[in-house]
Amino acid sequence: MTDVSSDWRMYVCGITPYDATHLGHAATYLNFDLINRYQKLRGATVHFSENITDIDDPLLERANRDGQEWKTLADDQIDLFARDMQGLRVLPPEHFVPVTETIPQLISALEALVAKGYTYKIDGDLYFKITPFLDSLPLALEDALKIFSERGGDPDRIGKENPLDPLLWLANRPGEPGWPSSLGHGRPGWHIECSVIALMTLVGEDYLSLHEKRAASLDLQGGGSDLIFPHHFMSAALGKALVGIDFASAYIHTGMVGLDGEKMSKSKGNLVFVSKLLAQGIDPMALRYALINSNFNEDRMWSKVILEDAEIKVANLRSTLSKVEVFTGSNFLNHLLLKYSHGLDTKGALEILEKWALANLLSEELAIEELSKLDIGEISNASPGEISRFIDSLFGLAL
Ligand code: ZN
Repeated sequence: MTDVSSDWRMYVCGITPYDATHLGHAATYLNFDLINRYQKLRGATVHFSENITDIDDPLLERANRDGQEWKTLADDQIDLFARDMQGLRVLPPEHFVPVTETIPQLISALEALVAKGYTYKIDGDLYFKITPFLDSLPLALEDALKIFSERGGDPDRIGKENPLDPLLWLANRPGEPGWPSSLGHGRPGWHIECSVIALMTLVGEDYLSLHEKRAASLDLQGGGSDLIFPHHFMSAALGKALVGIDFASAYIHTGMVGLDGEKMSKSKGNLVFVSKLLAQGIDPMALRYALINSNFNEDRMWSKVILEDAEIKVANLRSTLSKVEVFTGSNFLNHLLLKYSHGLDTKGALEILEKWALANLLSEELAIEELSKLDIGEISNASPGEISRFIDSLFGLAL
């Protein structure tokens, strides 16, 4: 393992609270929970921040459609999300920040961008000049334009300097919430909120005047693979425009979850929700096992069979851990940790754990024979307590 720096800063893009928490959300936050747990096991002091996009077009549209007050819808969904995460044993972020509670800081950041000459206005809406950052565009310009318009952008608006320029501040529309500011009465755009919340929580409220020499503001910026563009590209450009250094040293994007061979999406109406599964009595640890048993960047499928398989694996682990004594290897726990650390190979690490649990359900002679094949050091008897605590620390499985 590489050296452990004492402070390690992770920012993960949070939910827009109107359809929480489907399995795609859950898989994403579980993957970052594994990274959080791994960094803690390495001895790092993890600073973990996550936003809540509690003011955004999809939320306002849903509230409007359902005749509900947008703030009530957001608050209910945030509570539901927090309960789901607790059920799945996701360690809560140190900072869990709703955008609507950071409006003054967002306005200050926008004023700084205006002062630096990075902005222009069209009919009261404030835009960011993305052109100086296009060298790091993560995809072809033609694809970028297409995806930008599919994910909330407005490439065709007359008057834009560059079609990819993102909105920073929307002038107030009738019937929509807004806040007074030197930029006019309005509300923030999507991308700037993450740049500002990440910087103020993980670098410091005075980030605009800090001149600390470091490679990047954050150690890790994370989210689902649907955030690579435009969201992470835009928030990184904005973060760099604000403080002059790279926004994050590393980016991790998690795969999407499909259902029975199809993409899971709002438009197909086939979203599966964590709260519904838990209400049906599904064991949260089996659900957690099923969702982490793939590598982070793979798109994966969800099905009843996958859940049933996880239930069996969790039952085997519980049977082994409930024994008075188990067989283990002198290097077993380190082997699990190393396996995970190589490319965040959760699947590989869980496979070893499963083989260990199954071997321990055999006769003594066969157990030793099977465990000797695992390259986990000298086999000996042990109490399962330490292994149980380790499984909880690394995988978040309380069994
Ligand atoms: Zn974000």
